[in-house]
Amino acid sequence: MPLNLTYYGDPVLRTRAEPIEIVTDEVKEVAREMTAWMHEHQGFGLAAPQVGYSWRLFIATLPILLPNGHYQPTNEYFVFINPKLSSPAKETWTRAEACFSLPGIHAHVTRPIAVTVEAMDLEGNTFIKTLEGMAARIVMHENDHINGVLMIDRMPHKERRAIDVQLRKIAKERAAA
Ligand SMILES: [Zn+2]
Repeated sequence: MPLNLTYYGDPVLRTRAEPIEIVTDEVKEVAREMTAWMHEHQGFGLAAPQVGYSWRLFIATLPILLPNGHYQPTNEYFVFINPKLSSPAKETWTRAEACFSLPGIHAHVTRPIAVTVEAMDLEGNTFIKTLEGMAARIVMHENDHINGVLMIDRMPHKERRAIDVQLRKIAKERAAA
């Protein structure tokens, strides 16, 4: 079952996704495909609406910080189902983010430096993680996706206006594809 990525302009990216009541074989299959795709593309995170499913599910790695200041995904990807975020840190930090649904775009987004996430895994078990730094940022970016929010909604207005043409181009080209 090949995954079809969705891009800026697709209404599924602007829809508040539905909770997953039962982890069906279809949910497991989609999560498996998403994880495989992430391994292949060395991504940090991918949310179900980005592959056309309006589900409250995303995949994320908890990356390692390299001595050169760059982050690297690990070989481990976690599945978060029906995630609930809480206790965001008061302290924030700003960093450029990228998104598979917005090819070529980088957005400076300010987010809390830490957050707690409670979610369900594919076996139906609930887990809680308190995340910091890039891991927290990834989970917040992906959690935005399942609420129909994109990183461009959180970037400085001036920066957002500067990429208007680029955004329209993505929507136009991808809709025609
Ligand atoms: Zn994204």
